[in-house]
Amino acid sequence: MKYDYLIVGAGFAGSVMAERLATQLDKKVLIVEKRHHIGGNAYDEYDEHGILVHRYGPHIFHTNSKKVFEYLSQFTEWIPYEHKVLAKLDGKLYPIPINRITLNKLYDLNLQTEKDVEEFYKKVREKRYPIKNSEDIIVNQIGTDLFEKFFRHYTKKQWNLEPKELSASVCGRIPVRTNDDCRYFTDKYQFMPKDGYTKMFERMLSHKNIEIVLKTDYKKIINDVRFDKLIYTGPIDYFFDYEFGKLPYRSIRFEFKNYKDNVLQECAVVNYVDKKVPYTRVSEYKHLTGQNIESTSLSFEYSAKDGEPYYPIPNKANNELLKLYQNKASKLENVIFCGRLAEYQYYNMDQVVANTLAKIQMLVK
Ligand code: FAD
Ligand code: UDP
Repeated sequence: MKYDYLIVGAGFAGSVMAERLATQLDKKVLIVEKRHHIGGNAYDEYDEHGILVHRYGPHIFHTNSKKVFEYLSQFTEWIPYEHKVLAKLDGKLYPIPINRITLNKLYDLNLQTEKDVEEFYKKVREKRYPIKNSEDIIVNQIGTDLFEKFFRHYTKKQWNLEPKELSASVCGRIPVRTNDDCRYFTDKYQFMPKDGYTKMFERMLSHKNIEIVLKTDYKKIINDVRFDKLIYTGPIDYFFDYEFGKLPYRSIRFEFKNYKDNVLQECAVVNYVDKKVPYTRVSEYKHLTGQNIESTSLSFEYSAKDGEPYYPIPNKANNELLKLYQNKASKLENVIFCGRLAEYQYYNMDQVVANTLAKIQMLVK
């Protein structure tokens, strides 16, 4: 058997590629995935208590792209869900992103209008120019006290780096609000897949032109498979056998616990921004799915240096190293590098889908 494409990885990048190649270009595709399941980091499954949990941490779909939303809507129905996160600081809960409610509660203020909040930020902010890192981008907007309380320790725990050692884009993901909007995201489309992510992936990949091999590292089989082109969605440094050294990826150890209580948190995610708490965030899955079921399952996230590569670490040194690998990658005509690990970019799901769809357009031409 000869395949048109060998695809490494069955996450969003690999699955969108496979689906488009099979259905739009009538290509024969073999996906090889090292885990025992499809879906990549968006994989979800029912735990032994009947609760739909995300094995690699809470995944909330949000996008401003109509194209991405409509594309995925072919494979799933949706339930409306607007994500909310609370930050736990000294035993008290505050809305994050920081907003008017956060400030009033934290400093016992009575800021009434957006103008009041703007004035407040004007007083406390410290101008930084140019904005070079994740400390600059936050302190420049809201000053050092809020930065120390809500960003410094959470960031150190998550990345084992000080915010000033990370690109501005990392903490810059979190907006600063002047109103009392407590939603984590303000995107136009905010939903959860009705039957879960894994079901959505199953529908994407169920096509006669798509074959899937699980629990297999591609390096074990690549010499035994006949194919024309390779689509690679694993870590880019691994592809080149770490020729220029390892690109650091941040990992997480997820600890799942089930409690007899009906519900334990006010919202799906609580970020522990204190230094002394060893985990970063705790997610309660029922909030995401609206499941009406006895007991509740939560995951505790402990950041780790070693383990599955979940997060590329955006900073200057790593970007330099990445360029060496990208340079080599660009010379390979029959290999396409695609997705969060292969491009070493801190992408959300919708960005991976959008980029993959754009890459397929190039294959069509
Ligand atoms: P992946 O999902 O990582 O898929 C790559 C696949 O390749 C994996 O299945 C891997 O096993 C496989 N693979 C790797 N190497 C090999 C090999 N050698 N051989 C065979 N197979 C291999 N995004 C959002 O939009 N919203 C969120 O709320 C959100 N929350 C997140 C929470 C966490 C904790 C994490 C880690 C990420 C989160 N994301 C979120 C990001 C989201 O997971 C990614 O954008 C998306 O899953 C990336 O898809 P991908 O296909 O590029 O990579
Ligand atoms: N962050 C923080 N405090 C928070 C939330 C986020 O310091 O309460 C910082 C932290 O460095 C984190 C980054 O902002 O890694 C991005 O946060 P996001 O919630 O987007 O992280 P992800 O969901 O990708 O883990």
